[in-house]
Amino acid sequence: MPTRLAFTALLTLLALAAGCGGPADNLEAIRERGELRFVTRNGPTTYYRERGAPAGFEYDLARRFAQELGVGLTVVPVFSLDGLFSALRRGEADIAGAGLTLTPERASTFPASTPYHEQRPQVIYRTGTRRPRSLEDLEDREVLVLAGSSHGALLARRQADDLPGLKVRSVAGADPLDVLRQLDQGSADAAVVDSVEFAIQRHLLPQLAVAFDLATEQDMVWYLAPDGDNGALQERLAGFFRRLEQGGTLAALREAHFGQVDVLTRAGSQTFIANIRGRLPAYREAIEQVAREHQLDWALLAAIAYQESHWDPEAISPTGVRGMMMLTRATARELGVPDRRDPLQSLRGGARYFKDLRRRLPGDITEPDRTWLALAAYNIGLGHLEDARVLTERAGGDPHHWQDVMAHLPKLEQRAWYTTVRHGYARGREAVRYVQNIRHYQSVLQWRFIAENRPAPPLEVEPLLPEQLRGRALLAL
Ligand code: GLU
Repeated sequence: MPTRLAFTALLTLLALAAGCGGPADNLEAIRERGELRFVTRNGPTTYYRERGAPAGFEYDLARRFAQELGVGLTVVPVFSLDGLFSALRRGEADIAGAGLTLTPERASTFPASTPYHEQRPQVIYRTGTRRPRSLEDLEDREVLVLAGSSHGALLARRQADDLPGLKVRSVAGADPLDVLRQLDQGSADAAVVDSVEFAIQRHLLPQLAVAFDLATEQDMVWYLAPDGDNGALQERLAGFFRRLEQGGTLAALREAHFGQVDVLTRAGSQTFIANIRGRLPAYREAIEQVAREHQLDWALLAAIAYQESHWDPEAISPTGVRGMMMLTRATARELGVPDRRDPLQSLRGGARYFKDLRRRLPGDITEPDRTWLALAAYNIGLGHLEDARVLTERAGGDPHHWQDVMAHLPKLEQRAWYTTVRHGYARGREAVRYVQNIRHYQSVLQWRFIAENRPAPPLEVEPLLPEQLRGRALLAL
């Protein structure tokens, strides 16, 4: 690696020495400016703001790349695919990253990075209508695609080649969720979106399902501004993604951002919605009372109780934990809970346990991360959480931030990592899912019940709950 770095440095020097004659070197321009301008889409799979702080898979990658170059990061958010490429063309951004598929058409104009991720384009349909099994089944039916997407290009090729009857409608100025929502509302027969996009959004639109994969895994790349010389920047990006892949960071980030969606299946979301109506009313008062006593958000306490027992005070696991908050016999004794099946007692025990863990975390961890990290500890224990924080710090992340720690929790399941920390193996992925599920349940409950919630400014997108859905699907639960 040092030789490669030296080589890159030499190239850069040579490029500099070559003087003003040739095209400007884009990597050098970024360094001189002290700023990397990254254009991306605002959405749950790419970039969003979470209680004031930026987050998202693409954002996390861009932040790391800027850090490696030793420059600041400016995120330029746009709301359509075309917006990304116009920003590059106009020289307003250095790099575009937004789950973008590598296509020959794009690559002929925009230099691309090496691939850092893969997704399958999938055909989505409404359950209850006839499920198409192939594109042939869709002839004379209408298919929605995002305007300017790789999917539109793919279908156009099939139209020209062998399926002239295919009706494709491009949805302009939209994101994949808008496309899915239009399908949900019955404005077409099918839609094409990428696998991760659908996995993230599907629990909000439980009527929709995958009909079939339109193609195998496709490479996702970052595209660069077409003007200037991108050789050094491309070389640098190749090394960056290679190191992230080899060090396990890329896998950890994928898991952290996209892994938990597997748990929230279509059936799971429907059950949650059914339980908000069916079971919650019986316990709502008890939950609100205990939340008041302990100064907790009632939606948070309700979300923990749902994740633990689906609001069933009679719940019992094979390992003997039981009740609304699934306490072990030992914990219940410590917390002074004589009857674990009594919902009020169980909720009080759980609330006290959670607050105790939150209090015991290091003093310099601030909210909201303090709550997410305490939830992780509730699931996995303080010792293992501490180990994950150590791994986070070792990898250059910030152990005070849930987003960073959650990326490294899964490492506790891998021998190469858990043997290097104090408390050894732990089910780190489950802890990530646990926290992310609770956050999802809490958001849904808040939007469902708190009338005073108004849509936030455009960039305040809750994780997994894009703004467009507020006031619509969620309030109509
Ligand atoms: N990957 C798609 C593209 O590059 C956009 C994302 C989606 O539509 O799911 O066009």
